[in-house]
Amino acid sequence: MATQPALEIPRPPRIAEAQIRLLERLCNACAVSGNEGEVRKIVLEQVKPYTSDVRVDALGNVLAVRRGQASQPVRVMVAAHMDEVGLMLVDDEGDGIFRFDIIGGLNAAQLVGKPVLVGRGRVPGVIGRPIRISDDEDRDEKIPLDALRIDVSPDNAKRVKPGDYATFSTTFARLGPSLRAKAMDDRIGVASLIELLRNAPPNIDLLAAFTVQEEVGLRGARVAGYALNPDLALILDCTPARDLPAWEGDSQAAGQENRLYNTRLGAGPAIYISDASTIHDPRLIRHLVETAEQFHIPYQIRQPGGGGNDAGAVHRQRTGIPSVSMSVPGRYIHTPATIIRLEDWKNTLKLAHAALSQLTPAVLAVER
Ligand SMILES: [Zn+2]
Repeated sequence: MATQPALEIPRPPRIAEAQIRLLERLCNACAVSGNEGEVRKIVLEQVKPYTSDVRVDALGNVLAVRRGQASQPVRVMVAAHMDEVGLMLVDDEGDGIFRFDIIGGLNAAQLVGKPVLVGRGRVPGVIGRPIRISDDEDRDEKIPLDALRIDVSPDNAKRVKPGDYATFSTTFARLGPSLRAKAMDDRIGVASLIELLRNAPPNIDLLAAFTVQEEVGLRGARVAGYALNPDLALILDCTPARDLPAWEGDSQAAGQENRLYNTRLGAGPAIYISDASTIHDPRLIRHLVETAEQFHIPYQIRQPGGGGNDAGAVHRQRTGIPSVSMSVPGRYIHTPATIIRLEDWKNTLKLAHAALSQLTPAVLAVER
């Protein structure tokens, strides 16, 4: 395989300045689960020039269908979630101090001192802890969510209220070969899906689902999978890259292999085998791997284990929908700042597009 020249991919989408700018807009938008409006608005504006078959369903998913030209096209659902993990104010304690809750998988210990934006008015605040961390005992203590508050200052207290969402205020930045942003999980998938719609391969019906509420239990994908009723599904997401060296102070791990390793930056799109909610379809895994090798696109196999994404809901829909996932690896996912490599994004989009372009009913007709 390695000695053959790379084949040409039909009309591959390109990631250039405009695509990076769009990703920046998507990442800087605030759209915690259940409040995806800001991202939905950008998605609608971006997909409408490419298909008239666009609808927003009752939960807020954007379903955009672009039909191919084949007589019996494979109907492929490609999904990416619009929501991000975040916070919600739950109680006004006066003087601009608010008690808050966590929406999605966030660790309270990582929140102290982080700047946030609250409500539709994007009122700036900071996550504080009433008790000062001073001595060694305090430093090692587990920080309960109850001990934290969002502080917007007394002057701004009237501009926010319990029920308002809050997101981290991190802004998008380019750092050499990397991109840093909040919500890279899964705006990177949303940006990729927009590009796939723009450059949809003619051999398939592309059923694009920009889903809501993934981070709180794959809720939007469940109804989107039912409504679209595809032959198969490809989920595009961002997955943790736990590829830093083991911490020297961790006596169990010191000098040993990184036990948490699952993907690493720079090694290409991460193809899933299994996670906590899905055994990914072996025929589709094979199709992705064979396509990557055929077109000389780097890829990695995400190490099996926990986590999960919209595939967990989609593959169990109706009478079963063969599903597979592919992710851009990201460091520090579900924190205020995630880092990805631009090359990994380019290769993920390239592989997704090539794999869709090569799809025929024969891919699912083989023995598993
Ligand atoms: Zn995700």
